[in-house]
Amino acid sequence: MNTIHKTDEAVGFIPLPGDKGKPITVIGNDYIRSTFDEMCLQQVVNSRMAPGVTDAILNPDGHVGYGAPIGCVMVSPTHIYPGPVGVDIKCSMSLLQMDIPEDVIEDKRTRRALINAITERTPTGAGRGQRSVPKGRRVDQKLGARAVTEGVSEAVCEALGIPPEWAECCEDSAHVGHDGSRDALESRLEWILETKRIRNFGDKMGQLGSYGGGNHFGECEITRVQDRPSMRETSKSFGLKDGHVSFLSHCGSRGFGNLLAQHQFKDLERKFETWSTPYPAGDKKLVYAPLGTPEANAYLDDMALGANFATVNHMLINALVLEAFQEVLPGTTGELVYFISHNIAREEIVDGKKSWVHRKGATRAVPAGHFSLAGTRFAETGHPILLPGNPRDGSVVMVARGGAERTAWSVNHGAGRQLGRRNAFRTLDQKAVDAEFDTSDILFNGRKYPLDEAPDAYKNFPEVLHSVEAAGLAETVAKLQARFVVKD
Ligand code: 5GP
Ligand code: MN
Ligand code: MN
Repeated sequence: MNTIHKTDEAVGFIPLPGDKGKPITVIGNDYIRSTFDEMCLQQVVNSRMAPGVTDAILNPDGHVGYGAPIGCVMVSPTHIYPGPVGVDIKCSMSLLQMDIPEDVIEDKRTRRALINAITERTPTGAGRGQRSVPKGRRVDQKLGARAVTEGVSEAVCEALGIPPEWAECCEDSAHVGHDGSRDALESRLEWILETKRIRNFGDKMGQLGSYGGGNHFGECEITRVQDRPSMRETSKSFGLKDGHVSFLSHCGSRGFGNLLAQHQFKDLERKFETWSTPYPAGDKKLVYAPLGTPEANAYLDDMALGANFATVNHMLINALVLEAFQEVLPGTTGELVYFISHNIAREEIVDGKKSWVHRKGATRAVPAGHFSLAGTRFAETGHPILLPGNPRDGSVVMVARGGAERTAWSVNHGAGRQLGRRNAFRTLDQKAVDAEFDTSDILFNGRKYPLDEAPDAYKNFPEVLHSVEAAGLAETVAKLQARFVVKD
């Protein structure tokens, strides 16, 4: 049994066996601590004890994941871990702020028209791409190849109708290869195509501009800025507009990222078997590659290709969503607030040491004045943190505080699942879930709200937020109140 020792209202730690090394930091108040089951705690211990790992953090949204918990951070200066990045490489959130006052979409018919205009451009559902919608953008193999090797470059923006200035509001607008070059990505992609490692590459590229299935969504919001002078100021520099319509998107690298990740897991497992290397804690989901090896290089290149897909995917979705708003409400303008990932490994300086920070269901949280933001438009405010909760209890835009130093500059990525999908279908009541959307006047596409995605399938979001704020990691700048949801 693993025990969390409480040090503060919302901070605790799990000591390492034999007290060897830095303990695991656990963020969460009493309620949150009661939501972690033993398997989740064991997974974070396994991750922390794995070769080359120097720090691990469990966030309030933590729950059992693939090898490492979803909702954790794993730091290593020497090793890269594909499992803790996950199958949906660079699954991310983005927020588009529109200039439309909230009353313009009060009428249900306007919101229905918006849902239709959006779903005519951005498909939802596993395997579906732009070809399945009438007003999407056709992306061919050649343009797709540029997108995954260049990210949101000027040429890619121009070809897809993405405002090029949005690149400034991306956590990373372009990922490069293991040696810091784009060439490495180009040769890797050439090899992938030659060996047919990814079949139907053109079809996969046709999925740029789509949400996919499961928990991915688009959600129309009303931005509600916190009524405090400092937050009003921060929200202004983020481009947030109080009482105005905004749009939150959640998706990742679709089939392309998934295949890249699955191949990597298999490649590394094969190496481990050949060399008879033991898996960390006997769990093959924690396969790794020491940095500098050909295996690590190949993984870093694949992760970058997948990450570029996710970035261009989000930018194209935002361009299409804006176009949909303009069709229904001519004259609408919109600006990207930010795009930020919660499934990625990034090279950062942690405790003075260059390390790979694996955020698995975790979001980077860098405050004002931090050297890594120098020269960016967020140097003096900290960057926006986009946290989805659930449609009923809302979502938030936060900004990091100094306390995030102890979590390797990270916060959670949402509320976090509390009911498994099967369990949600078994225990939640369809009529009650749909009725709740009805009373809150939140529309959704489709006839019934997916039960495994219902608000109660997730942890209590106010408690999650309270934990983040009480631990001094970040503060809420604005709340986002849902008005309609587009989900598979
Ligand atoms: P992931 O699926 O990436 O692990 O988690 C994303 C987070 O999004 C979840 O933890 C949950 O809090 C949140 N979420 C899931 N579905 C919705 C939704 O329809 N609307 C909003 N606002 N948040 C959601
Ligand atoms: Mn995802
Ligand atoms: Mn996600």
